[in-house]
Amino acid sequence: MSLSITDYEPVIGPGPLMHLRRLGEMLKDRSVVHLNSTRVGGGVAEILENFVPLMRELGIDARWEVITGTEDFFKATKLIHNSLQGAEQDLSPTMKEVFMETNRENAQRLAGLLEEADFVVIHDPQPAPLLSMIPQRRGKWIWRCHIDVSRPNRSVWNFIKGLVGRYHASVFSLVDFAQPLPHPQYIIPPGIDPLSYKNRDLSDQELNRVYEEFNLDPTRPIITQISRYDRFKDPVGVIRAYRMAKAYHENLQLVLAGGDATDDPEGALVLRETLEAAGDDPDIHVLSLPSDAHLTINALQRISHVILQKSTREGFGLTVSEGLWKRKPVIGGDTGGIRLQVIDYHTGFRVRSPEGAALRIRQLLQDPRMMRSMGEAGHSHVRDHFLITRQLRNLMTTLACLQM
Ligand code: UDP
Repeated sequence: MSLSITDYEPVIGPGPLMHLRRLGEMLKDRSVVHLNSTRVGGGVAEILENFVPLMRELGIDARWEVITGTEDFFKATKLIHNSLQGAEQDLSPTMKEVFMETNRENAQRLAGLLEEADFVVIHDPQPAPLLSMIPQRRGKWIWRCHIDVSRPNRSVWNFIKGLVGRYHASVFSLVDFAQPLPHPQYIIPPGIDPLSYKNRDLSDQELNRVYEEFNLDPTRPIITQISRYDRFKDPVGVIRAYRMAKAYHENLQLVLAGGDATDDPEGALVLRETLEAAGDDPDIHVLSLPSDAHLTINALQRISHVILQKSTREGFGLTVSEGLWKRKPVIGGDTGGIRLQVIDYHTGFRVRSPEGAALRIRQLLQDPRMMRSMGEAGHSHVRDHFLITRQLRNLMTTLACLQM
């Protein structure tokens, strides 16, 4: 879908649009390379897919590159990811070697581009060693951390800190995630694209197709969690919450929809655990969707009564803003970036257990007026704080500051 920056004016108004254009003039023709570890699946890919074309439209020479690696590399990076979010796992010397060696190979492949770029934005820890492997670099390097590093495993964090401490700046999604690092740190929460396939308005026909495709009953309530199959997203906890709520709402249907990210080797295992927990309940729909199923996810969110994001750790949780944008109350784990989006009793409820989630599901299903008013409040909250245009303005301002 090819969008123009002016298409956003009806949503954000003329002022913010003019601001973006001014920033575009300040950064005109600067080359910006975004680099991460997967083209599909997960929030970073979701952001970059929409972000990079908008930067280009504003006159910036932006591009998106992806590092490649073997299964062993992604096992190592998944362990780093988990332990930075607090899991008690250590990186073995062999894993560290694979991690560094794969980055060296990528550095060789990407050297020309990375040496010349005015700005290099490295997303998350997977490509973090690249800076030390590009000695001839001329631009400013920024480490953009999307995960919750507020309570990391110390030894893994010290290793990553040694790599990212040499960047010119880092960007975190929340103040709580900022770390003692020897450079400026900026706080930029992500945002969703209101005009993308994932979030644009849908016709009744598009919604009806999804009821049919997944055998969902439009006359009965639906609760939904959209997430990669990852233990931090707690899909099994969602099933427990659904079961407790179902004792009071026997018509209840649950949708758990996720897919693969090429940099997440644990997905298949967690999907199996989820299917086992679901058992033979015909009202639990555990879906494994292709990575480009944006319209399907959009429709699933829209036909739901309540959206869940029962994570136990969450860097931001784009799925929360996606649900709120569609005027759905969100029941979210009381953690990380979910706290920015779910304002307790206003845009949804924050919970710390399956029991808590079950209680809030029941409360909402019994009170359609509360569902509606929270949905409206959530939509306004996202419009004011969590759209991609605000995120773009923040990042462009950061780049403009760094080039001075
Ligand atoms: N998503 C998707 N397909 C899936 C599961 C998730 O397109 O099967 C999208 C979801 O709609 C959201 C993003 O991937 O836009 C996930 O971002 P989030 O910040 O919620 O979590 P992350 O995966 O980055 O931890």
